[in-house]
Amino acid sequence: MTPPEIDLRSDTITRPTPEMLAAMAHASLGDDSRDGDPTVERLEDLAARRCGKAAGLFLPSGTMANLVAILAHTGRAGEVLMEATSHTLTSELGGIGALAGLFTRPLPGHRGAPDFDALRAALRRPGIGRSNVGTALIQLETSHNHAGGAVLPLSLMAAVRSLSLQHNVPVHVDGARLFNAATALGVGVDVIAQHADSVNFCISKGLSAPIGSLLCGTTEFIEQARGYRRMVGGAMRQAGPMAAAGILAIEKMSARLGEDHATARQLATGLAALDPSLVDPAAIETNIVRIDVSKSPLDAETWERKLGAVGIRVGAYGAQKQLRLVTHRHVDAAGIDRVLDEVRKMLQR
Ligand SMILES: *Cc1c(COP(=O)(O)O)cnc(C)c1O
Repeated sequence: MTPPEIDLRSDTITRPTPEMLAAMAHASLGDDSRDGDPTVERLEDLAARRCGKAAGLFLPSGTMANLVAILAHTGRAGEVLMEATSHTLTSELGGIGALAGLFTRPLPGHRGAPDFDALRAALRRPGIGRSNVGTALIQLETSHNHAGGAVLPLSLMAAVRSLSLQHNVPVHVDGARLFNAATALGVGVDVIAQHADSVNFCISKGLSAPIGSLLCGTTEFIEQARGYRRMVGGAMRQAGPMAAAGILAIEKMSARLGEDHATARQLATGLAALDPSLVDPAAIETNIVRIDVSKSPLDAETWERKLGAVGIRVGAYGAQKQLRLVTHRHVDAAGIDRVLDEVRKMLQR
């Protein structure tokens, strides 16, 4: 019998738990866009409370949550500062420019954290008639997708926060994997979110819900965001079943993310034992493991193809020099052992 497939391409593939499916089947079916829906309201309240914010908003995706947050903070005027490899700059198809009409200034950084001096130097007052637009927003990302799941240090977030207050510029945190970051730091998500005006997180990634993201902030900000959500077509109708899954994602599934971080460390440590050039286990903070195959005899596409042939799905990433593996609820320690065994056999041949 062939063993079950192990899919390490992303944590977005996690399926709803049986408890989620049961809750979805029995959820309210109000029209959230017309009269409101009680399950959606419960989810939004829960998200806001967890993040230490006054209000929350349920959106179909993290990409839309970022776009709507950016629109609500800026009103489509000014410049947004963020680290150069941010998901918003690299993976959201330029919506911040094309749809929000904003300028962006990519900042140099280290492991996804913007360089603080570069950030301070880039902050500008609006200079009507002069040569610059003003800074409208600072955006941070934690855990950082393209920095291999790196977590922003709280000390940096606090420093950015006080700089932002001095300059009267809001801070938005793209926390698609906010609960992973909080788990790695051993704190509640509110401890991260306290350094931001707004924060969003995905329930559709490692938290196992099928769809959706939550955006949290002040009541006034969320009212603005609610309007922009409608403008971009993100106001949903009978969203109760999706919200029911989201409530369990936050209440139950957020507590088990440490298991995914442990399997990621197990994977990285095992790979480094096979070939130290593949990965530095000390760089693994959450559930993302980037493998550098540039010194491996096989290129990333070959890794992808050969592992795929034995039922292990991995994704080539970034100019074929790397693979990105993401651990999640559907792969346990025994599964990682099997992955390591197959990699060992592949490299020996
Ligand atoms: C996944 C991700 C997003 C986008 O979320 P979608 O729901 O896929 O649109 C945004 N930011 C970061 C950091 C992400 O990892």
